[in-house]
Amino acid sequence: MRFEVTTLGTGAALPARGRYPSAQLLNIHERLFLIDCGEGTQERLRMAQVNMGRIERVFISHMHGDHYLGLMGLISSLHLLGRTAPLGVHGPRELREVIEVQLRASGTYLRYPLHIQPVEHVSGAVVFRDNQVEVTGLALRHRVECTGFLFREMPGPRKLLKEKVASIPHYARQGVKMGGDLVLPDGSVVPNSELTAPPPPPRSYAYCSDTAYAPELVPFLRGTDLLYHEATFSEALAARAKETMHSTARQAATLARDAGVGQLMLGHFSSRYKDVSVLLHEATEVFPETLLSEEGSTFQVGRPHL
Ligand SMILES: [Zn+2]
Repeated sequence: MRFEVTTLGTGAALPARGRYPSAQLLNIHERLFLIDCGEGTQERLRMAQVNMGRIERVFISHMHGDHYLGLMGLISSLHLLGRTAPLGVHGPRELREVIEVQLRASGTYLRYPLHIQPVEHVSGAVVFRDNQVEVTGLALRHRVECTGFLFREMPGPRKLLKEKVASIPHYARQGVKMGGDLVLPDGSVVPNSELTAPPPPPRSYAYCSDTAYAPELVPFLRGTDLLYHEATFSEALAARAKETMHSTARQAATLARDAGVGQLMLGHFSSRYKDVSVLLHEATEVFPETLLSEEGSTFQVGRPHL
């Protein structure tokens, strides 16, 4: 089952050659979720050959333009493309007004239902959940309210042991997969543990942008397979990071190390860094399992399940 993230934009506030503002596309079991939607995201989706119509939900972290200014264009294009399926948008409280005023001003009546849901700025609060995926908030520290997102697979059914499948009547298989014991017609009971193996552990992906160093997130990030964390500045600009409520690469790595995540992915690079290898170097000194996000690259979350 697929669980992967494509980084569509890795830049910070100002445009830099070859970099785009924040946007990521998450594919969880062939369902598409967009995280942040900076200017130019539609074009980036096209470059990545993604059918925009397949996006189910959009998650916006905060109201700084480099994280959401592409959203209105996307909403409008989906309308023009004839979408009829609902679109869920989760984001700051202010987002609804910003979207509605633009729809009103242009006299647009969307052909599809747009469900705009405010996100609570509380770590661990459920943003969205169904039987495949759960999304919870991460209260980041930034100049305006900024909420990161933790995406986690819901636990799958137990796996029937190959050598036992034939001994389980068809009508009972679903129940056994869900953890029930097998009750045979003669009344005898075969315990579930003799028939099944546990499902693969749920995989998880955390998105933390934009934020100052926030060690209080550690318990919420513990054991996350892949952590995306902003690394706007190098250590030489730690004072600037503090002032603008952003992080250095080393701070991102410290959080990754303390939370014991599987891998760390850096992004949201200041336009002053033409070459971001200094950021990678500073992070790997603290946490070796660090990657750089790149425009249009796709990263697997945890180990792929079959
Ligand atoms: Zn910001």
